[in-house]
Amino acid sequence: MQNTTQPSFRHDICKEDKVMIPYGRQSISDDDVAAVSEVLRSDFLTQGPRVPEFEQAVAAYCGVAHGVAMNSATSALHVACMALDVGPGDLVWTSPISFVASANCARYCGADVDFVDIDPANSNMSAALLADKLAAAKASGRLPKVVIPVHLAGRSCDMAAIADLANEYGFSVIEDASHAIGGRYYGNPIGCCEFSDITVFSFHPVKIVTSAEGGMAMTEDPELASRMERLRSHGITRDEGEMHESPHGPWYYEQVELGYNYRMTDLQAALGLSQFGRIETFIEARHKIAARYDTLLPDLPIKLPVPVPTDQGRSGLHLYPVRVDQTRGAPPRAVVFRRLRAAGIGVQVHYIPIHIQPDFKQFGFEHGQYPAAEAYYAEALSLPMFPALTEEDQDTVVAALTLALKA
Ligand SMILES: *Cc1c(COP(=O)(O)O)cnc(C)c1O
Repeated sequence: MQNTTQPSFRHDICKEDKVMIPYGRQSISDDDVAAVSEVLRSDFLTQGPRVPEFEQAVAAYCGVAHGVAMNSATSALHVACMALDVGPGDLVWTSPISFVASANCARYCGADVDFVDIDPANSNMSAALLADKLAAAKASGRLPKVVIPVHLAGRSCDMAAIADLANEYGFSVIEDASHAIGGRYYGNPIGCCEFSDITVFSFHPVKIVTSAEGGMAMTEDPELASRMERLRSHGITRDEGEMHESPHGPWYYEQVELGYNYRMTDLQAALGLSQFGRIETFIEARHKIAARYDTLLPDLPIKLPVPVPTDQGRSGLHLYPVRVDQTRGAPPRAVVFRRLRAAGIGVQVHYIPIHIQPDFKQFGFEHGQYPAAEAYYAEALSLPMFPALTEEDQDTVVAALTLALKA
């Protein structure tokens, strides 16, 4: 494994900083390079054999029937909403503490977005607040069509409780598991869709496994799978069973609905597949780093992420987010952030609550609306966390953080 120090996510880095240790970074091996080179020399750069191989490998690992690869998790979330017939007039709820893509997928479909505040104990969508909001929504006659829980930092939401509510109120569930491939919820892999209609993974380079850009939608439902396959490629079908006319000849295909070009290339799938072969190594490395942070950081004025109890599953540990605790004498998070960046530590904030993004103001969202999310945002700081982070790098992070937290 290489360990160069270039950040992978340049637009994510403040201009004035020279980052030496990024918060996340891909691990590319010689096998990964060989797998991509092999595709480059093959007949198919796109739509060849690697995409279905990658889909089958991820589906088998998750114990789910279908995986539909796409060019990003954002595309997969969009197509997942479309496959669940989300459209104008519908409502989709998600967590305010997520990347904007978790909410934008509904807006692409012309639907309205709303949010359910987080549980301060684990920063995921609160199932209790979801229950309260559903009861109120039922009374006012505007229940959501789809709810999108986000497994923040790789830790599963309380999916059993969310699935019970889905049954009671009749909404569909898309898990945004962009942070969580390799994680488990109780005994089962995240992505098995035991408690959801569709689960989406991201393969962006900062995530756990990368295909450069890429995402995948997992589902048990063959109809949802074939609808998503069609939607990722222009809404075109070559399946006679789905056609309106009998085929005009061997060249014939039909566009039966409006879809997109969201296909993953074979180059991306080859990289993803090769990376995916090392997923257990990646997850173990992340757990080792987190456990070491847990032992090195407890005396500082920060709140550490609460680990998932082993009988409740396993986090994918995409991130290691701490909370800067001013009540215990820490300076404001912004000060700590700037000091760490100045010291060459590529800390990041996950996330700015979606509802306070300027583009969401037009829907009437305001500061103060989701207090737990906003309190989390005021304190959150993701420390560097990626498989190739060395103990020496980690010691540098801990030393810089210790200094940055001094009043
Ligand atoms: C990264 C991310 C996405 C989007 O993933 P892309 O593959 O970059 O489109 C969506 N949701 C969450 C929670 C993410 O972290």
